[in-house]
Amino acid sequence: MHKISVKFLGAIKEVTGSCHLLTVGPHKILLDCGLIQGSYKDEIRNSEPLSFDPASLTAIVLSHAHLDHSGRLPLITKQGFDGRIYAHTATYDLCRIMLRDSAKLQQKDAEITNRKRARKGLPPVPPLYDVEDVEAAEPLFFPCEYHQWQTINEQIRFRFHDAGHILGSCIVELELQDHGVVRRLIFSGDLGPYQGPILRDPESGFDADHVIMESTYGDRDHRRFDDTLSELEAIFNSESSSRGNIIIPAFAVGRAQELLYLFAKHRQRWHLDRWQIFLDSPMAISATEVYLKHHCLYDAEARATLGERPAQKLKQLLPNLMFCESPEESMAINRIHHGAIIIAGSGMCTGGRVKHHLKHLVWRDTTQVVIVGFQAHGTPGRALVDGNHFIRLWGEAIKVRAKVHTIGGLSAHAGQTDLLRWYQQMPSRPAVTLVHGEEQAQETLKAKMREQFPGLSVRRAVDVELLAL
Ligand SMILES: [Zn+2]
Repeated sequence: MHKISVKFLGAIKEVTGSCHLLTVGPHKILLDCGLIQGSYKDEIRNSEPLSFDPASLTAIVLSHAHLDHSGRLPLITKQGFDGRIYAHTATYDLCRIMLRDSAKLQQKDAEITNRKRARKGLPPVPPLYDVEDVEAAEPLFFPCEYHQWQTINEQIRFRFHDAGHILGSCIVELELQDHGVVRRLIFSGDLGPYQGPILRDPESGFDADHVIMESTYGDRDHRRFDDTLSELEAIFNSESSSRGNIIIPAFAVGRAQELLYLFAKHRQRWHLDRWQIFLDSPMAISATEVYLKHHCLYDAEARATLGERPAQKLKQLLPNLMFCESPEESMAINRIHHGAIIIAGSGMCTGGRVKHHLKHLVWRDTTQVVIVGFQAHGTPGRALVDGNHFIRLWGEAIKVRAKVHTIGGLSAHAGQTDLLRWYQQMPSRPAVTLVHGEEQAQETLKAKMREQFPGLSVRRAVDVELLAL
């Protein structure tokens, strides 16, 4: 009797903590090992013991660098995992930046917790992991390219395909064998939109028995990308904009690079020459260097725009772009009262340098804030989107006189139509298990798939804890 199964351990009815345990005969493989992100109550679950022994794993296959997919790798290594971590070459480069940053945040969180514990007479607790744990995990990475079969052992092989979500993001095609039975499994990772900037469209057309598919936006579509470009053009071209500064809170990996790319591509139409553009985030600068290094992963349009030497071409197209590494360079921006476009993290204004810029500028009526990413409830970014008259930064209420624009079409995720299109391209109509989505998104997508593909077996991971293949 063959034994091929998947146990869904995370990102089941939520969009973080991606982690799936694959068993093939005596071998165990982990697909992703992500952090649970959100409220304090959610994040405390990261330190709960795993339901399996990390030392018993043969390997980990990582879909992409986002922390909700990669962020527990240093933890699992600390707990005894010493096999290979298969990841795309660009994912490895991004993980080196992102896991270090994550470790620093974990250490900072632990310091805050321990100050509170000390006041209660309680002993200190260690951080989830630290930079040394990240350094211990790095040698385990086994960087791979798209489309090349990797043989983990005689029973398991896989290859990566482009998911078009962030640089190096992968769809994983697995071929699993036990007792003469062969199963082909597709793990979608996070899927990008069709026709997004810089990256290629998600690949599809696979011949598979089963698909583990993300469903983040299973219940809706994003605003049209062309409309988004027109909205941005209107903001940068408006005469009133130039009377003050523009702040763009942006995620350091993905969104910041998309913005720079769109600026380079539309510089003339958007009249960007009259602005000074600042990328004010050391992490976004490092991530931009990784994006520029892996230009062979761009789509045809980005290759035509940035050419074979994208770093030089970017400088040529945007001579008014400045990278701010040091805090002094960042603070110097405060002396500019008009004509500056400031791209800074964090994306939801919960930390980083953007908070300082908001404090200096959001109370001025000449300032504009351009929101280009998702804003979770309870964040200052969300307060801006909701039109609140005040935002709270470091406990201080600050009046919002700035004009706030919410731009909806720059998502790194496929919307409902794109998810259906991706599945449509698989002629073998594999059975589907939906992961990485909230209940409403998954139920809507499930109903839509059943309607569009009669007889299709589609279910939510939350309904099948252990899936036998
Ligand atoms: Zn992602």
